[in-house]
Amino acid sequence: MKTLVVEDNRINLKVVCHHLERLGIVPIPAENGTRATELFAAERPDMVLLDVMLPDIDGFEVARRIRQAETPGEWTPILFLTSMTDDAALEKGIAAGGDDYLYKPVSEVVLGAKIRAMQRIIQMRNSLLVLTKKLDNANRELRRLSSLDWLTEIPNRRHFEETLEREWRRSMRQGSEFSVLVCDIDRFKAYNDAFGHPAGDQSLRSVAQALMDAMVRGGDFVARYGGEEFAAILADTPLAGAQVVGERMRTAVEALAIPHPASESGHITASFGIASGIAMPEADPLKLVKLADKALYEAKRQGRNRICAIASMDAMEN
Ligand code: GH3
Ligand code: MG
Ligand code: MG
Ligand code: MG
Repeated sequence: MKTLVVEDNRINLKVVCHHLERLGIVPIPAENGTRATELFAAERPDMVLLDVMLPDIDGFEVARRIRQAETPGEWTPILFLTSMTDDAALEKGIAAGGDDYLYKPVSEVVLGAKIRAMQRIIQMRNSLLVLTKKLDNANRELRRLSSLDWLTEIPNRRHFEETLEREWRRSMRQGSEFSVLVCDIDRFKAYNDAFGHPAGDQSLRSVAQALMDAMVRGGDFVARYGGEEFAAILADTPLAGAQVVGERMRTAVEALAIPHPASESGHITASFGIASGIAMPEADPLKLVKLADKALYEAKRQGRNRICAIASMDAMEN
């Protein structure tokens, strides 16, 4: 433990430094305020004993400078050295950022007791900082987990709905086109029946990853919407653009080439429904999801493993 001792009276300085050494503390002596601020920056002591009356800048100013030099969250205890008769200086010292005071001449016993008390506060403060950090990390992890689907580890439906709201509001400010895409794996019940539920789960993970990989633009977003259904948000994207993305997603699932004898193509495929509209205050983005669902139904009806789109400007009106 290092303590900066700021005292212009050489004898006092020597005595205090000597007391500190006997307490097992390394003293860093400074005879004026300027030197004290320099040493504080260079040595980063654990504690500061600070005389009020100094030849250059006074102790109050030194305390203020120390507080400024500390990074946010950092705290170095400052104990003012004051004379028994100067209560006003004592009050000013605490106001300037001091934590406690010691009367001069400094008694070794009182110095030892106050240092022990300060060390206790430092320790408690440090464990509090460690705990706060742990709590921060746990909260961050919790937030991350609560927005992810447990099986596929891509965003979940809740995250989808939050993103839909946010992106919709953003698009509304710009009056830009907005697309929603829903995806449903073809004949997946038959896949489970043939290969078992665990194999089905594994395929769901692969499909989810393929769909994620097909999202190339920063704002594009895909989530597991439920069971074997996924949904994507393409903000600032008109229908033609969404069709390109939909086709890319469809191809990505097909390219996994997961055998599925009961499916028309012999592999796992998916069908896609797309709906687009201009984000407007009177429209509801969930309506766009419903329309995309309608388009998906049409894609299934037409034979699966395809995309089907609805330009929904009219359908968007309430
Ligand atoms: P379609 O081509 O018409 O979509 O046929 P389908 O069999 O995929 O459609 P349906 O909605 O009738 O069945 C969906 C099936 O998806 C039901 C269930 O067996 C399967 N499924 C849903 N969620 C999960 C899951 O989390 N894991 C697994 N392994 N299978 C799931
Ligand atoms: Mg002095
Ligand atoms: Mg389904
Ligand atoms: Mg299905």
